[in-house]
Amino acid sequence: MKAASEMTSVVQHFPAVTRRQLHTLQVNLGYRCNQACSHCHVDAGPDRTEMMDRATIDTVLEFLVTNALTTLDLTGGSPELNPHFRNLVTAARAANINVIDRCNLTILNEPGQEDLAEFLAASDVQVIASMPCYSRANVEEQRGKGVYDRSLEGLRQLNRLGFGRDDSDLRLDLVYNPHGPNLPPPAAQLEADYKREFAELGIHFNRLLTITNMPIKRFRHALQRDGHYDDYMQTLHDNFAVENLTEVMCRTLLSVDWRGYIYDCDFNQMLAMPAGGRRRHLSEVLDHAFADDQIAVDDHCFGCTAGAGSSCSGALRR
Ligand code: SF4
Ligand code: SF4
Repeated sequence: MKAASEMTSVVQHFPAVTRRQLHTLQVNLGYRCNQACSHCHVDAGPDRTEMMDRATIDTVLEFLVTNALTTLDLTGGSPELNPHFRNLVTAARAANINVIDRCNLTILNEPGQEDLAEFLAASDVQVIASMPCYSRANVEEQRGKGVYDRSLEGLRQLNRLGFGRDDSDLRLDLVYNPHGPNLPPPAAQLEADYKREFAELGIHFNRLLTITNMPIKRFRHALQRDGHYDDYMQTLHDNFAVENLTEVMCRTLLSVDWRGYIYDCDFNQMLAMPAGGRRRHLSEVLDHAFADDQIAVDDHCFGCTAGAGSSCSGALRR
């Protein structure tokens, strides 16, 4: 096996990337979650207390409006557990901003969240839900025992309200990521398999988003533990596709942590690599023109450009 430093791919170092016009703000509302998945890259769980406060949420809204952004992408933890979640969604929708809720599905049947699905429907929020497989065994291996049935119940709740149905505009997309050190299979084929299997369970969705596992945090540690890290990095380098560079999500997105500090993407946030190379709060950049700014890149970025490419919205090319 070659060491990562001995790799012979055409592109050794990730090319320089600059930002275009921003259109999306991806906001981590905090690390509290009703689940505690073993693979969680933010170590979220029921006992975490880190949550975005009201003042920071007001700054998020101010930034969205000041910069005329079109999309607010909410993540966590379980973003719905932030006590200001519904106020933020309502205010953003009132400003005609599209809102994405990265929902773990089981939150929809937690005590106290019985009306959450209705709220998401009434607010016309786009739901993106992680569903690593259509088989019970694979889902529960990644996300815990009992999660499969509760996730299906969440999907049925959303379907009853119109999410994911052909006769409705309410969007429900599912997310797939590979179980091991491989690139995702072609999205269109896998989506057809998911649709067929879920239709048999009476469940419908719009699109399947396939996401490449990034070689950072827990996934990187697992690769290193199992002796697969160098091979995985070689796979990412060997499959580098230059055409993906124009579409990597950091070119049009900014990521915000629960305290309000900014990063070029969620992965850079997890690696504590601040946007612009220095720690800045959203309140310091309300009037900053982000277009043409240099993006902080490193070897993990090859995860975004391998094969069909990858982003929080799935493959870059289907
Ligand atoms: S549902 Fe998501 S945020 Fe919550 S513990 Fe699992 S992976 Fe982490
Ligand atoms: S990891 Fe982040 S900074 Fe690197 S290419 Fe992907 S989106 Fe851009």
